[in-house]
Amino acid sequence: MSPTPSAATPWTCPFCPLLCDGYALAQGPDGLALVGSDCPRAAASLARCASATVTPTIDGQPASADAALDAAARLLAAARQPLFGGLGTDVDGARALYPLACATGAISDAAGGEALLHTLRALQDRGQFTTTLAEVRNRADLIVCIGESPRENLPEIWRRLGVGRGDDERLVAQREIVFIGAPADPVLAGRAGIDASSVPLQGDLFDTVALLAACIAQRRVAAPPAIAALAERLRAARYAVLMFESKRLPAQGTLIVEALNQAVATLNRSTRAALLPLGGGDGASSVNQTWTWLSGLPLRSRAGPLGLEHEPLRYGAQALIDDGAVDALLWVASFGTEPPCPPGALPTVVLGGPGVAAPARGVFIPVATPGLGGSGHLFRTDSSVVLPLEPVRDDGLPGVADVAKALTARVRALKT
Ligand code: SF4
Repeated sequence: MSPTPSAATPWTCPFCPLLCDGYALAQGPDGLALVGSDCPRAAASLARCASATVTPTIDGQPASADAALDAAARLLAAARQPLFGGLGTDVDGARALYPLACATGAISDAAGGEALLHTLRALQDRGQFTTTLAEVRNRADLIVCIGESPRENLPEIWRRLGVGRGDDERLVAQREIVFIGAPADPVLAGRAGIDASSVPLQGDLFDTVALLAACIAQRRVAAPPAIAALAERLRAARYAVLMFESKRLPAQGTLIVEALNQAVATLNRSTRAALLPLGGGDGASSVNQTWTWLSGLPLRSRAGPLGLEHEPLRYGAQALIDDGAVDALLWVASFGTEPPCPPGALPTVVLGGPGVAAPARGVFIPVATPGLGGSGHLFRTDSSVVLPLEPVRDDGLPGVADVAKALTARVRALKT
């Protein structure tokens, strides 16, 4: 296990789907601190993780690790229909949770499942042309941001896209950034080589994007001048990128992503364009990828007596809990505390990182955070990139994979 760094050590930050790997971590007077960035999200996460809870609990009372594992295995083995929720873990954790889901017949859905499904369902329907952070950084001359700036949730987004770095000759010297239905991000004002503007909504976001796609396809539609002009700018761009933050899309956001996919497909007949969906943080994208390669199906699936079942709408975690369709919950949160484990009467097992609350009824097993107390791998927001995470301190805590393997062995023994 790596010692806590006293000098600045290169680090990959696991606390949002950008997985910034260009900064360092060092021991400051108040604990670990990011060097090279003032990202508020990373700072808050590091502060929360300053000390880790190390004691397992059963019904709120301290317990040994073995007693907690035994109790958790009994709880899961006794359930007729368990739900695995949160799923805040990395690839290794997901690989170990999948056999446990099969052994218990659990339905699995990530905390960001709703947002994940917007992009996933559109991908299933007609395919997708996406790009990477590096491609945007090096080639995009026009970036269209659907909705509000993603900077609040992904604080280093503009830096990662090379926006406003007029001093770097390797990057595109002049870029246009257009926000649809939201004001231009004020931090872009006055940046070298950046022309930021905004286009108002015409109806709702879907109406606006559908109208834009129709204009790009040069259909005869009555579009306001701002949207017609944006369509022309997209057709004239050398490399256009349509960017959106999945969790900010409204219900039925899949329709918006479908329209964006149509726009990208039309543009690619005469120039170059791509989609950049932003999301899948806290392990959601990594677990989904892992589930898909292990089973052939994404999350919101179940390996039960009828074989594999994928129900993108019916298997939403909150809907299952609200409908009383599940009778036990395994909640995994090794990166952050939001969203919290759904409160309620379900018998619950929580595998939680620093700051995650123990359930009043059920079992709490503390786990290491990949990239802080443990190692691991995460998919970045551009999903074709997987980054390794290295531990920077020794929490003395197991990883999610260790706990899931121990639970699987116990559950199998109880069921035979
Ligand atoms: S933007 Fe995200 S990955 Fe980058 S330092 Fe901030 S929280 Fe970490």
